[in-house]
Amino acid sequence: MPGFEVIDEKEKKAIARIFDEGKVFFAHGFENKRKRYHVREFEKKLKTVFSPNAADALCVSSGTAAIKVALKALGVGRGDEVITQSFNFIATVEAIVDTGARVVLTDVDDTLNMKTQSLESLITKKTKAIIPVHMLGVPADMISINRIGKRNKIPIIEDACEAIGAKVQGKFVGGLSEFGIFSFDFGKMITTGEGGALFAKRKSDGKNARMYHDHGHKNISNLPRGLDRAGLIGFNYRMTEISGAFGKVQLQKFPSILRESKKRYSILEKYIKNNKVKVRHVSSGNEPNYDTFVISLEDKKLREKIIGLLNKAGFGTKNLPDAFKWHCAYFWEHVDKKIRNKEVTSCYNRLLKCVAIPILVSRPIIDYKNIASDINECSK
Ligand SMILES: *Cc1c(COP(=O)(O)O)cnc(C)c1O
Repeated sequence: MPGFEVIDEKEKKAIARIFDEGKVFFAHGFENKRKRYHVREFEKKLKTVFSPNAADALCVSSGTAAIKVALKALGVGRGDEVITQSFNFIATVEAIVDTGARVVLTDVDDTLNMKTQSLESLITKKTKAIIPVHMLGVPADMISINRIGKRNKIPIIEDACEAIGAKVQGKFVGGLSEFGIFSFDFGKMITTGEGGALFAKRKSDGKNARMYHDHGHKNISNLPRGLDRAGLIGFNYRMTEISGAFGKVQLQKFPSILRESKKRYSILEKYIKNNKVKVRHVSSGNEPNYDTFVISLEDKKLREKIIGLLNKAGFGTKNLPDAFKWHCAYFWEHVDKKIRNKEVTSCYNRLLKCVAIPILVSRPIIDYKNIASDINECSK
């Protein structure tokens, strides 16, 4: 969430500098005209920070594109099934459908992420990939999910779009499975306006992803781009140099974004003391990125009251429930007429009780103390 809140002169200068460096806004070629390769530099930095053991880090035009590129790199297509979760962003489902594969949806557990018991029971011979999503900054149960993936020989694509900076046993999400996906859209932890990245653990996956996102280009070194050959049928999901330069500045700001988010999140954690309010579960060994604080309430009236006070204080409630329909599969009958099955309906009923409190680094810490005491006062 906070990436857009910290944009200042630094991003502006980074873009202006490209004008002085030869005005090349394309990530490839133009060797004689350019001084820098910003997207390549951004990729290198992302890999160093988030997934040092990956074979490759690749920047693309959006998070949605990154998911599609990963699926295509794995050869997913018509007749295949891909499992993901009912609490999600519609982008993940769109990326799956766009490959021709069928979407299979799991319920979520009290972390609001993929329910691993459901996952086991939904695997079939047609399952070609599993996409757990670290929703609203809290890691999914990656230890179990990776184990299930290995046992069934199915690659895992971690959708870490909403969880840049979250950790599992001290390691950043996005680097824990065969693929990791980031989004840099305007609502994410760090932003490039629009943009995304993928990390590939296996060399061959990285190679396929890189070719697919760039019309199949093999990018054979020492060969001019025009004489290069295609290794597969690709598409264009490239990132521009403007986004690359922008992203490098945001990445420098990332440690302070994380630190400031944690301060505000911790205030809510410490001061919300109301026995009618249940705080979202984070499994031991997992650390959120402090982007959103989610509470759950059985009492419908109290929930309405709390939503009201968050709106009045100018916080809103993000996707629970402000943008509920974009984040719960229960509403996606345009994707599948029979989408409201047992798993999806169970997830919907759980989410109906939740409220998401966005963490904004531009808001002073005292605002969060006040929200906590308002919530505590609410049920009295
Ligand atoms: C934002 C998001 C995406 C897609 O990212 P875009 O960059 O907006 O295309 C995918 N999955 C989840 C869970 C997201 O929150």
